[in-house]
Amino acid sequence: MALRFYNTLTRRKEVFKPLKKGIVTMYSCGPTVYNYAHIGNFRAYIAADLIRRYLLYRGYKVRHVMNITDVDDKTIKGSRRKKTSLGKYTAKYTKAFFDDIETLNVQKADLYPKATDHIREMVAIVKTLLDKGFAYKGSDGIYFDISKFKDYGKFARLDMTGLKTGARVKQDSYDKEKAYDFALWKFWDEEDGEVYWKTRIGKGRPGWHIECSAMSSKHLGQPFDIHTGGVDLIFPHHQNEIAQSEASAGKQFVRFWLHNEHLIVNGQKMSKSLGNFFTLRDLLKKGYDPMSMRYVLLATHYRQKLDFSETAIRNADNILKRIRDFMAELLAVKEDKNALEIGKTIEETKNRFEQAMDDDLNISQAMASIFDMMNKVNRAVAEKNIGKKDARRIYELMLAFDTVLGLNLDVKEQWNTVENAPKMIAKLLEDREQQRKNRNWSAADEIRNRLRKMGFIVQDTDSGPRWRKA
Ligand code: AMP
Ligand code: ZN
Repeated sequence: MALRFYNTLTRRKEVFKPLKKGIVTMYSCGPTVYNYAHIGNFRAYIAADLIRRYLLYRGYKVRHVMNITDVDDKTIKGSRRKKTSLGKYTAKYTKAFFDDIETLNVQKADLYPKATDHIREMVAIVKTLLDKGFAYKGSDGIYFDISKFKDYGKFARLDMTGLKTGARVKQDSYDKEKAYDFALWKFWDEEDGEVYWKTRIGKGRPGWHIECSAMSSKHLGQPFDIHTGGVDLIFPHHQNEIAQSEASAGKQFVRFWLHNEHLIVNGQKMSKSLGNFFTLRDLLKKGYDPMSMRYVLLATHYRQKLDFSETAIRNADNILKRIRDFMAELLAVKEDKNALEIGKTIEETKNRFEQAMDDDLNISQAMASIFDMMNKVNRAVAEKNIGKKDARRIYELMLAFDTVLGLNLDVKEQWNTVENAPKMIAKLLEDREQQRKNRNWSAADEIRNRLRKMGFIVQDTDSGPRWRKA
């Protein structure tokens, strides 16, 4: 079967082929570095990571660019409130972002361009839009005239009748229900403090939307293959990116738009403004395994809403434990024999996994193919009906799947036993085991937190606890 993605442009699943044979160009809207990202944001980055990893698994080269929004309304406001420079303020959260994606085993993009390094490119697009008559100068900035772009609203499926009022909006984020002329360039005002650039289109700073238009086309050309982001970005952000880029360059901007659904809490989108958010740091402090967090964010299809709860993380703990135990069991098979029809099992599982992933990354079907195989092989292991060579082939298959899943399933070296732990750590691990045996879960959790704070991650297996450095 051919690889198919659901394309927001056409609202259909379409066969995906990159423009240039063998290499996929992909852009993801990255973090606005005004605060720690919350795990809703990480759902978006993990969705992009899964797309990227599966394309690699399918044999494509991927050129992946993710921007860092380090100048916009929110970053300026934040730095002013903290009475610090914009650069210093955003550097802190940029670093935190990189730390967090590493914790979640998100593969690095090839490039992380910063908005503040691309002012020249933004100014060039705005200038072209002015020259071509798509933009006009207002008293407080330069605006995109949406009535001049015939397809405005088409991407976001907006009802444009009666909307062409010439009303404009200067803020980066605005009312989802209405279309306005939006700011490409904002002339300096007092609220901006030290943040401005003196350019041929005036002293000021870019609007948020122009940033992504400039950085994507500079580093990937136009059109490029895939653009990702959360569904909240379809309008106005991505609609505006399309308008700016297509009006200025006179050609298509992006071929495939992939949008992830929201992570929600009690029925509402997790967001900074609602205050119903967890950062990754909040959850790690509670002692959760980062890979369980990754599993939660990964295992629901990216176009479905994901209901987040701590119970979901605990369930993921159990699932991952089962998989790791399975991996350890495979390594423990020592006998030489050929009893199971291993070639057939491998082929069937691989086919099912790939067919599921080819179908717009149907992760739950893909995981089901893995679980079914695990059941079958587990039975064979229990009945001593599998030989060492076959067990290793299954192990390798799991590692191949793990290049897509990124769950650190290779149990060979990374986890240590109590015996080779430093003395103090061994003592804590033993205390914790005792508490667990007494079903004293909160005391056991407390010790796990302590270990975590000391920089050690603990994992429970049938043959006792395992540990590694965080
Ligand atoms: P921001 O830093 O606000 O620009 O958001 C970064 C990315 O996170 C964007 O792709 C958003 O669409 C996405 N995002 C924000 N909130 C959520 C959420 N609750 N669930 C999933 N994705 C989200
Ligand atoms: Zn963007």
